[in-house]
Amino acid sequence: MTKQLRRVAIIGGGITGLAAAYRLQQQAREQQLPIEIVLIESFHRFGGKIHTVLTDNIVFEKGPESFVDRLGIIEELASSLGISDQLVHSIREDGYVAVNEDLYAVPKGVVFGVPTQMKPFMTSDLVSWSGKARATLDFLRPQKKVDVDQSLGKLMRKRFGEEVVDNIVEPLLSGVFNGDIDELSYKATLPFLQNEEVSKSLIQGVRTYTQQSDNMQFKRQRSTFLGGLSTLVDELVKQLTDVKLVKGVRVTAIKKLGDQLMLSLNNDTSIKIDGVIIATPHTVAQQLIKESELLASLNDIPLNSVATVSMSFDLSQLPKSFKGTDIFVSRNSDVSITSATLSSRIWSNIAPKDKLLIRAYIGKLGDEAIVDLSDKEIEKLVLQDLQLLVGLTGQPQKTIVTRWKHSMPQYTIGHTDKVKLAKQKLAIAYPTIRLAGNSYEGISLSKCVTQANDSADELLHELYQNQL
Ligand SMILES: Cc1cc2nc3c(=O)[nH]c(=O)nc-3n(C[C@H](O)[C@H](O)[C@H](O)COP(=O)(O)OP(=O)(O)OC[C@H]3O[C@@H](n4cnc5c(N)ncnc54)[C@H](O)[C@@H]3O)c2cc1C
Repeated sequence: MTKQLRRVAIIGGGITGLAAAYRLQQQAREQQLPIEIVLIESFHRFGGKIHTVLTDNIVFEKGPESFVDRLGIIEELASSLGISDQLVHSIREDGYVAVNEDLYAVPKGVVFGVPTQMKPFMTSDLVSWSGKARATLDFLRPQKKVDVDQSLGKLMRKRFGEEVVDNIVEPLLSGVFNGDIDELSYKATLPFLQNEEVSKSLIQGVRTYTQQSDNMQFKRQRSTFLGGLSTLVDELVKQLTDVKLVKGVRVTAIKKLGDQLMLSLNNDTSIKIDGVIIATPHTVAQQLIKESELLASLNDIPLNSVATVSMSFDLSQLPKSFKGTDIFVSRNSDVSITSATLSSRIWSNIAPKDKLLIRAYIGKLGDEAIVDLSDKEIEKLVLQDLQLLVGLTGQPQKTIVTRWKHSMPQYTIGHTDKVKLAKQKLAIAYPTIRLAGNSYEGISLSKCVTQANDSADELLHELYQNQL
């Protein structure tokens, strides 16, 4: 049977859109599908939140800095692109938590904020004896399996008490999921907590999960690329040779046109297509599809604002006594930063040996106005914190402040159901539109690539239903 030519558009040229375009291209080549693919990005560069800047021989990341590729999804993409040799992995990771004005080492064996090894936990100064005793009640207080979604904070507080959550769980997890653990859905962030064993003991459940992950050789270390994350973006753009790449043009609406779809663009043109992957934040998807009820369940996905502050120093400005690579900040701490990474200690490739690169986040929940301060004011606050916490001396040689306003989707309670409902309604009204990206099924880069692959495969199936 001759397959019919299909036209597909991808809206958004962040990692999700680029990876989706690449998947479509590769599948079309392998299966000899007649297809025309166009990717439309509204900004003047591709990459979306990924933005690496190389200056003074130092790799500064303005957005994401690295990825944990548990299932090897990005590794697979890198291998297909022929850039596996440019992958680099963290050389060491030593976390500290700032409580009040002091730093305490994260006890060995803490996974997703849960202390899985009792000896290091019991000998840690991060939690008082009464706090430790309260946490061990986790072994003694069997509970019902938690089926109903609830906040990560509530779940953890019930099992471990307040102190372990405030000093370990919250500082570590709020950074990973960029949100308030007392608001975040456990089903959408740590779905494995639903398993039977966790209902008896959270510590035992996380131990089992870690063991299973190790058996399956899931990766836990952080990775990036030589030259930073933009290496992946640049290579995707270079190898999307069968895809028409359009920059600096915004899609303004998607409408039905018989069996097809019509995309309106802000340059007063429009294009006819058969299918589309919307790889933008959900708020943009809601504007593009005029029938507002279809995506109404996504209305209350909050978007947080943060800023990243990257600073380079001479290595000699850091006291030798501080050995850590990551600083997490407890709510019981008076500093402005919410976390900081001594990036040049984690990655051997990003700075000359005598330089130090530190990257901090600001934008505590409830105190997001800090993101609107001037670069100089932000630099001053971050520097004060680093002086206080690690004894850093002098001024930075270069500082890059990047604001990410309303950019971090919060997976609050009920998130998975909200997304499921929106996708179900959309599939009925528009069977050839797919939603993918960090608003939906994971904010991490590897989850974005997974969604890109899945949405591309699903769309091809829909478009060539009887022809594949
Ligand atoms: C500061 C920060 C740090 C992070 N750190 C990490 C980390 O260390 N590890 C990790 O795994 N993840 C991290 N993340 C999350 C990760 O970066 C994002 O989830 C991911 O990059 C999102 O990719 P995306 O393609 O889905 O969306 P985006 O990168 O937001 O891309 C969407 C694109 O769509 C375009 N667009 C929007 N509207 C239109 C329109 N109407 N028409 C055409 N184009 C449009 C935008 O310009 C943009 O380029 C971080 C995020 C931030 C903000």
